[in-house]
Amino acid sequence: MLGLMQDWPLLCHKIIDYAATQHGEREIVTRSIEGPIVRTNYAQIRVRAKKVSQALDADGFKMGDRIATLGWNTARHMESWYGIMGIGAIYHTLNPRLFPEQLAWIMNHAEDKAILTDLSFVPILEAIADKVPSLQKIIVLTDEAHLPKDSKLQLEAYETWIGGHDGDFEWMQFDENTACGMCYTSGTTGDPKGVVYSHRSNVLHALISCQPDALGIGSNEVIMPVVPMFHANAWGIAHTAPMVGAKVVNPGALMDGASIYELLDSEKVSLTAAVPTVWLMLLAYLEESGKKLPHLKRVVIGGSACPRAMMEKFQNDYDVDVIHAWGMTEMSPIGTIGCLKPQYQGLTGAEKLDLQEKQGYAPFGVEMKVTDDENVELPWDGKTFGRLKVRGLAIANAYYGGAGEDQFDSESWFDTGDVAHINELGYMQITDRAKDVIKSGGEWISTIDLENLAVGHPDIQEAAVIGITHPRWDERPLLICIAKEGRQPSESDVLEFMEGKVAKWWMPNAVAFVDEIPHTATGKIQKIELRKQFSEYSFPDG
Ligand code: AMP
Repeated sequence: MLGLMQDWPLLCHKIIDYAATQHGEREIVTRSIEGPIVRTNYAQIRVRAKKVSQALDADGFKMGDRIATLGWNTARHMESWYGIMGIGAIYHTLNPRLFPEQLAWIMNHAEDKAILTDLSFVPILEAIADKVPSLQKIIVLTDEAHLPKDSKLQLEAYETWIGGHDGDFEWMQFDENTACGMCYTSGTTGDPKGVVYSHRSNVLHALISCQPDALGIGSNEVIMPVVPMFHANAWGIAHTAPMVGAKVVNPGALMDGASIYELLDSEKVSLTAAVPTVWLMLLAYLEESGKKLPHLKRVVIGGSACPRAMMEKFQNDYDVDVIHAWGMTEMSPIGTIGCLKPQYQGLTGAEKLDLQEKQGYAPFGVEMKVTDDENVELPWDGKTFGRLKVRGLAIANAYYGGAGEDQFDSESWFDTGDVAHINELGYMQITDRAKDVIKSGGEWISTIDLENLAVGHPDIQEAAVIGITHPRWDERPLLICIAKEGRQPSESDVLEFMEGKVAKWWMPNAVAFVDEIPHTATGKIQKIELRKQFSEYSFPDG
């Protein structure tokens, strides 16, 4: 017998309909690419999204077409997503930090038919547009007055493009499993791989992420996604915030400490989210300026491991709670969130930080396990680490075009490529990427644990650990550090600081000081590049 309940397809544009109906006046504030702070609200976003749908429809774009976006977090970017999805087309977010050739490769792979780009990225398109034969139209997310006049490309101003339409448009109706969004993984090895989100998975992901033990947001929240929309849907916030009617503050192109602080303060932001590198800049700015964060209550940190010292600073010096989270583009992206279960509510000081160094536990809709290389499940004891595998309602079941098949098994478990352990209460801790873990004498050493420890040293700004070939142990850890400005820690200072805090055989064999550590387009340390830089290195002791 089937249930007798209504069939109400989970379509993303229903989110913006809801926001416009119930929270129509709630603001979306943006530091615009042109400069000024601009304000709109959910009611206007819906009207303008419908104009985007009309404009796409008038230009002949159809269901299933990939429409690329190359933009920072702005209201225009947000409304264009909803407009694209509203005709059953697919927003395809491009990361402007990638090399132009990589972008061209990705656009060709996705066969993008049109692109909506920020003003700042027109030069990138000028370099690659003729290498993407599928591309029919370039719309610049600006008005006529700011449209570059001397471009060799045929550009159209977004405001003119949608300006000819009235917003009187019925969203198209289709199956909830229809594709709505696309994002390529940053691909530190091999070609980037395309993740294809569905309307259903995005709606369910938003429902999950607003829960109290996830992002825990409602209509009273003022949320600033510093994490870009091109990084795994701004961790879903472009859907979660309208679903609950939260005010959104978009930082646009400026993510330096002073610019971020200005918006946190003037818009009274209560929750924000980004990768650790962004917070390093904000904390440095706060330290220099002596400013405080009276409005901010919580900061979500993920994308790479949040250093303990960063949590301590936010919590002790600024009274801002850190929520450490883990996820992946392939998971829409939320995988685990570091909220405290009742058993942990009483934790304070160092014990609380010990727990917060873990990436948290999985919400409803995410199953996870750790296995050894033979796919045998390992115990949840908080120490036995192995390959982290996941399945769930907003997790990829394949990559676009069938790439990376070996990461998915017949029972839908997706091999994340991360190495982790899980404790008795379900809290997971990433110890490494499978390809970065150091294999020393048949045992594994976690590079993330060593990095987190090293950045706790008062003179160290950033740290990365890589394995260096060793004649006796296969590999041994080399700690690579950037010293804080004006400080000159020595190798023995750093090693003494670490001693006793990790197992003796995990201690780095040496420390190298550098001026720069390379990062990927999504802010992760680029270990491949570091390994290349240190390919000739050998330890002083042989
Ligand atoms: P992306 O798809 O670009 O978001 O990258 C996903 C990968 O980032 C994961 O597989 C992890 O390796 C890493 N990652 C994300 N969040 C964390 C975290 N909190 N701690 C450690 N690694 C993380």
